[in-house]
Amino acid sequence: MAGQSYSIFSVLREALRGHSGWGPAWREAEPKPRYDAIIVGGGGHGLATAYYLARHYGIRDVAVLEKGWIGSGNVGRNTTIVRSNYLLPGNIPFYETSMKLWEGLEQDLNYNAMVSQRGILNLYHSDAQRDAYARRGNAMRLHGVDAELLDSAQVRRMYPWLDYDNARFPIKGGLLQRRAGTVRHDAVAWGYARAADRLGVDIVQNCEVTGFRIEGGRCTGVETTRGAIGAGKVGLACAGNSSRVAAMAGLTLPIESHVLQAFVSEAVKPVIDGVMTFGAGHFYISQSDKGGLVFGGDIDGYNSYAQRGNLPVVEDVLEGGMALMPRIGRVRLLRSWGGIMDMSMDGSPIIDRTPVDGLYLNAGWCYGGFKATPASGLCFAHLLARDEPHADARAYRLDRFASGHMIDEKGVGNQPNLH
Ligand SMILES: Cc1cc2nc3c(=O)[nH]c(=O)nc-3n(C[C@H](O)[C@H](O)[C@H](O)COP(=O)(O)OP(=O)(O)OC[C@H]3O[C@@H](n4cnc5c(N)ncnc54)[C@H](O)[C@@H]3O)c2cc1C
Repeated sequence: MAGQSYSIFSVLREALRGHSGWGPAWREAEPKPRYDAIIVGGGGHGLATAYYLARHYGIRDVAVLEKGWIGSGNVGRNTTIVRSNYLLPGNIPFYETSMKLWEGLEQDLNYNAMVSQRGILNLYHSDAQRDAYARRGNAMRLHGVDAELLDSAQVRRMYPWLDYDNARFPIKGGLLQRRAGTVRHDAVAWGYARAADRLGVDIVQNCEVTGFRIEGGRCTGVETTRGAIGAGKVGLACAGNSSRVAAMAGLTLPIESHVLQAFVSEAVKPVIDGVMTFGAGHFYISQSDKGGLVFGGDIDGYNSYAQRGNLPVVEDVLEGGMALMPRIGRVRLLRSWGGIMDMSMDGSPIIDRTPVDGLYLNAGWCYGGFKATPASGLCFAHLLARDEPHADARAYRLDRFASGHMIDEKGVGNQPNLH
């Protein structure tokens, strides 16, 4: 039976009867001819949007259309890091809202998403980098977000085995956000799918959107591999496929798609109890509860819609790992995979209306969309329900690329592969 509650009592009951009573977490819905709202894309953002539409805005006649299976996109492919250590005023309140939603997510969804606030430490290796991190930490604290600037002695107490003295890039300290951490990525997709289903949302897998019905400048529905479906409103949450899907509605997005790879080692005894990032190269690492070292680095430097990467980036990421912690060289790599990133021109997302009435866009998440999942769902649901931006997502306008109001967190300019 779909829709049962998870609790200590249901776990005990099922333990006593050989776990024969667990049902599917959500219904396998057949698409109806029409919905009040359709969300295209059953990743974290699409499912969260449907959940908050039903939960907070009372719109329950909703379908999430997913071309593959739930969890097949980036939501099940990322390195699971969540944080709100941003610098710019357009970003900090949004990501902090997300962090607060993560903190209550498991109770809210009645689902164990393994939210683990194990902290993130951004290492710095020069005085200039320390100053930049001090500025970021101060901006966070001014917005009420936790941040601590550590010197090398404090970092050494946390991670005594790092190379502080003879490394090519000596560790001079780090910016620590203790409330950051990791969340089991596919549990987030399953948790939102189950919770949305319980509120009446139809989750339709194996249903690819192949076109849009646009009449008199207004989107009135979608064409799919399972037939045409009418809709009062249509929201796009297609992550790496955003440009392709929006093109079917005649829109050209300020987005490029690039592959990002992730890596997992064989299981080893506990080494890293938080998340750590290397400041002198692009490398980030944590350890999963099963013991695997989970890490990643840069995107592959070419445009692609393939969910797999290439060897030069594998070498580049592993070199970053070796520079930071040479002991990683003795660990065997177990698996790696790729996901398609929707890289926007300034590295920040878009949650906005489009020039087509009734068609709304949620895209441009770059490397960082997993941590944004709850706030993105909430803000996109608000936009769909109220036709006005949520207070935390006002800056994420589609027209900012024409008006020059960039949210360039890294300060690298309009080069999507660098964000
Ligand atoms: C290797 C890797 C590591 C990452 N690490 C992190 C991290 O540590 N922290 C972090 O915050 N972020 C990280 N990210 C980014 C994050 O995963 C993404 O930004 C985020 O998951 C994107 O939102 P989503 O979950 O909705 O995307 P997706 O799960 O990709 O959902 C989009 C869905 O749309 C569907 N779709 C596409 N076209 C159609 C169509 N025509 N019809 C119907 N459905 C369609 C796709 O099949 C897909 O399921 C990482 C990404 C990757 C790939």
